[in-house]
Amino acid sequence: MAGPSLPDALAGFPALRERIASAKPALFLDLDGTLAPIAARPDMVEVPAETLETVDRLARLCPVAVVSGRGLEDLKDKIGLRSVYYVADHGFQIEGPLRDRVVFEMGRESRPQIEQAARQLHRTLEGIEGALVEEKGLSLSVHYRLTPEAKHPAVFRAVADVAEMFPALRVTEGKLVYEFRPPGAWDKGKALLWLLDHLGGHGGHLPIALGDDLTDEDMFAAVEGSGVGVIVGDPGRPTRASYRVDDRMAAARLLEAIGGLLV
Ligand SMILES: [Mg+2]
Repeated sequence: MAGPSLPDALAGFPALRERIASAKPALFLDLDGTLAPIAARPDMVEVPAETLETVDRLARLCPVAVVSGRGLEDLKDKIGLRSVYYVADHGFQIEGPLRDRVVFEMGRESRPQIEQAARQLHRTLEGIEGALVEEKGLSLSVHYRLTPEAKHPAVFRAVADVAEMFPALRVTEGKLVYEFRPPGAWDKGKALLWLLDHLGGHGGHLPIALGDDLTDEDMFAAVEGSGVGVIVGDPGRPTRASYRVDDRMAAARLLEAIGGLLV
């Protein structure tokens, strides 16, 4: 199950080529660490121009979705294409391209509570060095990567207090981040399946998902059996992906190779 034991998607491309020949692909692409190199700060992340060109070209040949934990406006700003579907905020917000202006919001009724929780967190975290509240519309993140370790318990207490005030919201913990979301099980994988269904069901497209992170495992699980999951880099943990590529550059080459089959 570990990443390195998986077949390499570029080396194993003939097998992929056969599957793509029998069904039009629908691509689901993570942003950070997959289309773009990770940067010191999320706002410094930039997608290389040639990768954007490849994504734009692909999006004219088959459905392409950029799937991210980032908020919708942030994600659109980073990509800047009108040809792709945006699956933002871990799938809670979906917006279609020019030719299919679908808009979907999961847990829309929780928006006022998310806003109130954000206001409360801004207040309680004010004195804690490095703690940052990021509002994403239908979810919010409390980042504390820049907070001294001695203050981490204070961040936890503030988050726990606000979580108690808004019992209807779901609070999860990531890598030096807490997230508040609407209730209910929803993730990148469920959003992928929703979009696939919108595009015409499993029979219509071969879903191909590329990602590098834990949240992308939900996409890999969603396409396991019916499609193709490609993990970017060595995750150092078990993965549900069926292929791997070495790094972001190899992921870009794989996208180019897929594009070459579609023209
Ligand atoms: Mg990523």
